[in-house]
Amino acid sequence: MIKFEAVSKIYGDKKAVDNVSFNINEGEFFVLIGPSGCGKTTTLKMINRLIPLSEGYIYFNDKQISDYDVSEMRWDIGYVLQQIALFPHMTIKENIAQVPEMKKWKKKDIANRVDELLNMVGLEPDTFRDRYPRELSGGQQQRIGVIRALAADPPVILMDEPFSALDPLSRKNLQDDLLKLQSKIKKTIVFVTHDIEEAMKMGDRICLLNQGHIEQIGTTEDFIHRPKNDFVKSFIGNVDTHVLKQVKLGDIAQPISEVHIESIEQYPKVEPSHTIDDVYGLLAEHEAIIMDKGDNVPSHIVTRQYVFSYLAEKNRGVS
Ligand code: ADP
Ligand code: MG
Repeated sequence: MIKFEAVSKIYGDKKAVDNVSFNINEGEFFVLIGPSGCGKTTTLKMINRLIPLSEGYIYFNDKQISDYDVSEMRWDIGYVLQQIALFPHMTIKENIAQVPEMKKWKKKDIANRVDELLNMVGLEPDTFRDRYPRELSGGQQQRIGVIRALAADPPVILMDEPFSALDPLSRKNLQDDLLKLQSKIKKTIVFVTHDIEEAMKMGDRICLLNQGHIEQIGTTEDFIHRPKNDFVKSFIGNVDTHVLKQVKLGDIAQPISEVHIESIEQYPKVEPSHTIDDVYGLLAEHEAIIMDKGDNVPSHIVTRQYVFSYLAEKNRGVS
């Protein structure tokens, strides 16, 4: 869907992005991570041509981005910024409606879409539609920032540290919201963060940048089990692999009723006495696994996301 081929961005004599190549698949949640100044924002902004590239090629659906009409392309690529960037003098509805209006949607379709999006993130349309941004909390404003990017149903959404200005609780809530939303809408999302826990929780794949070049691209499991070099190891910290063998699934499983899940038939069944280590391979292939209390009635579930954020927290010594 999005392909980087030997892409560089050069400022003066400095390579902000240095010969970077990767593919992002349709429907993938792709995370760009790395220390401050490593080139995350530059990489992201080259996709929608907010920054022109110096060398190499970027393709969007097999066509070079330079061959697109730039404003039409931007309408097809939603963009969410770190700082909440709503227009203060416009209502929530007017903020969300911007791209649909530029695309000349019918008034009625726009109104329906605004309400639909507000409902998607649990904000009552009648309450919020006509408010101004300053009448919302930071977390609510950033929810609007996310649905505004979705408004005209673009296939691709770019997000540059969208939650980093929020307090930890709002941040966790928005991460959970976005994951739930993504399980329904299956957009191609390119998500920048400098927080490895957030990356592991959210990403289908993670691309770790360092001084403009790629250190490793892979799944959370790849980063934990197969770090490519010392930089990667030190960036993710030392995951204590003992944890994998110590933690029994029965201790971390959630009741199925508490997890938003469409159908449990597709997931493999395991025993509560299995450890994370026992089912690691299964979790690489399945989003979740289920278990029963020995009565063959599935009652609890362990999701991949949960295990990874659990491990990341352990890793940071949070719990
Ligand atoms: P990140 O988002 O990972 O923090 P950026 O992509 O913003 O990093 O920046 C990458 C590097 O490029 C940094 O060293 C930054 O100082 C440099 N840089 C970014 N924009 C410019 C610019 N307009 N002129 C010169 N250098 C820049
Ligand atoms: Mg940045």
